[in-house]
Amino acid sequence: MKGLPEGYDHGFAERYARLQLIDWWDQEAVSRATVLVLGAGAVGNEVAKNLALSGIGRLVIVDFDTVEMSNLTRSVLFVPKDAGRAKAQAAADAVRRLNPAVEALSVVGDMEWDLGHGWFVDADAIVGCLDSVRARLAINRICRSVGRPWINTAISSSAAEVTLFGESGPCYECTVGEDELVESRRYSCTGFRLPDVSNKIPTTAVTASLAGAWATQEAIAQIHRRHGRAVPGLQPGQRLLHTLRPLGTLVLNLTADPACPQHGDPNPVVRLNLDPRSATAEQVLEAGGPDLEELHLGFEFVQSLACGRCGHRLRVSKPRPKVHDALRFCSLCGEFSRSATEFSVLRRGDRNALRPLRRLGVPSRALLLLTGPNRSVWALLES
Ligand SMILES: [Zn+2]
Ligand SMILES: [Zn+2]
Repeated sequence: MKGLPEGYDHGFAERYARLQLIDWWDQEAVSRATVLVLGAGAVGNEVAKNLALSGIGRLVIVDFDTVEMSNLTRSVLFVPKDAGRAKAQAAADAVRRLNPAVEALSVVGDMEWDLGHGWFVDADAIVGCLDSVRARLAINRICRSVGRPWINTAISSSAAEVTLFGESGPCYECTVGEDELVESRRYSCTGFRLPDVSNKIPTTAVTASLAGAWATQEAIAQIHRRHGRAVPGLQPGQRLLHTLRPLGTLVLNLTADPACPQHGDPNPVVRLNLDPRSATAEQVLEAGGPDLEELHLGFEFVQSLACGRCGHRLRVSKPRPKVHDALRFCSLCGEFSRSATEFSVLRRGDRNALRPLRRLGVPSRALLLLTGPNRSVWALLES
């Protein structure tokens, strides 16, 4: 096996011999592919486990949460001694034990703020294994903005569903009711971080493995499609639904909502040869082109919080989603009277455009929106 990554020479052919018997299976494509697994809960465990067994090249596992004993009834990658550890790290370690040839990366944090969205451009498949509408809306928004398909999963104690959302056609936001949209915004109306509330929906190992199994099939189909091969699976805009009560399996064709805001043309991605550890907004705009005037961070960067009553000022220097809502409380005045000095857009000549973007909370492999009077592009920094 020439040209395969290190670790694939020892018994590669033997290990994957049964998979190679499948007429459409391309083990080399699978073993070079990157899959983004967003959420390392019950379904994320199943997807990561199945892809590791299949000899996936690289998994990027993202989760902000830690392992609890109650996860062990349906999370195949966790053992009791993982309790208290970051789910993403515990899952990545287990993946390496299952198949040492898999490169398992873990991102402990929020997929919206701590994960560079360049991964959405470069991953061969994107699987959402999260239980909140807000997080799914965020994945959907990012995927639509760069024109990438993604796979969504959802489970309860008696049902499992997997949906393939294409780069066009119906998207996740088309399927979300007005009530759920309002509910998802309720927690973020100030944009500041509120205490984490986890969804305690009853789920089982059975529904987690049903959703995880089909999501894995869809991820493998995506990988093969990128190599021009047709693989059995869902069409974009289709949802597979398994229910235990009533017992049945359904394939639903979703319809697009003509009023959905996520159906514009995606912006092109330009790769800029700049060191993401030191690059400044000024340098990124310079490399992007003379017509590009503004760099959008994608979040508000809070420099300080000042009390409107007593004037007491607190230095913050953090993206707003990482600033706890409680910091708006001025203890001198006894009320939520502090407001933020913040920015989300940088222009040439701005003082903050000379600071490394890293210092402004921009994660590595971030996508930065550059806009000018006639065009907008996503900049992805690579050195
Ligand atoms: Zn839509
Ligand atoms: Zn005050």
